[in-house]
Amino acid sequence: MRGLKDKVALVTGSGDPNGIGFAIAMELAKYGVHIVLNDIAETKDVEGNQKSLDELSAEIKKQGVRSIWVVADITDINSVAYMAGRIKEEFGHLNILCNNAGAIISPNFMHLMDDKAWKKTLDINLNGTFITSRAMMPLMKKGDCIVNIASRAGKFPAMCNGAYSVSKAGVIMLTKVLAKELGFLGMGIRVNALCPGQINTAMRKWGWELEAQLTQRDVAQRVEEVLETIPLGRIGTPEDVARVVAFLASDEASYITGQAINITGGQLMEL
Ligand code: NAD
Repeated sequence: MRGLKDKVALVTGSGDPNGIGFAIAMELAKYGVHIVLNDIAETKDVEGNQKSLDELSAEIKKQGVRSIWVVADITDINSVAYMAGRIKEEFGHLNILCNNAGAIISPNFMHLMDDKAWKKTLDINLNGTFITSRAMMPLMKKGDCIVNIASRAGKFPAMCNGAYSVSKAGVIMLTKVLAKELGFLGMGIRVNALCPGQINTAMRKWGWELEAQLTQRDVAQRVEEVLETIPLGRIGTPEDVARVVAFLASDEASYITGQAINITGGQLMEL
């Protein structure tokens, strides 16, 4: 992939060793990109597979690149400003911003949705993406790019996960508005979104469990049903998403901006 070597990337929400964020960080590092890892806590509590940001950063460095980690809450303006400061201090600039951090908070049917859960979902997925993009802009220049991790759920209404769907639809529109403005203002920063479908991470497994409960099936049955809706006949991996981020961040994608690209094994197709 051309144009990635010695770039600097921030991947938010990259503290889960089995999550999409860490896979993105690792994929970019393989192309020689220096990496800033971020998460809301120093160690993400993943059952049976805890690794601290420091340990994950050490794994990234094995690719021969520099790597730092910053604990910051993307919904908190001061925390994100601190993260921007650390990146400036360490690297002086940022070339690739991947807004990956996201969450599903107490999902429920919309008419039963709790106020706090609704606000927190929008706060993390949508406001966090906005706050981080705005804070990193002074560190970025022409030719740099933003990749937002939205979701298939931002285009296709999720049942019992409406706040998440609405927040991700917001991320897709934020992507397009930013791409248009940054293009027309002559800043030359490309902005794209990815819309993953069913990707095998802790978040998705929890989603299948919830859907199974709701439809009174067991989880294996639910996954079988999901598989029947995916033309490629398999669940996606974090690496499936990571490879597209690397492509979008590279010079190969220098004429692509304002897009929301589905990574769903064909589960979602649009004209
Ligand atoms: P994950 O839970 O492993 O990763 C999300 C990360 O974001 C976690 O490490 C979490 O601690 C972090 N995070 C949450 N709130 C934060 C905050 N306020 N500040 C900083 N970090 C915060 O889940 P994942 O499946 O790897 O999801 C990664 C992204 O992909 C998310 O945006 C998710 O919505 C999106 N996505 C996932 C799927 C899927 O099937 N797994 C599908 C579509 C979209």
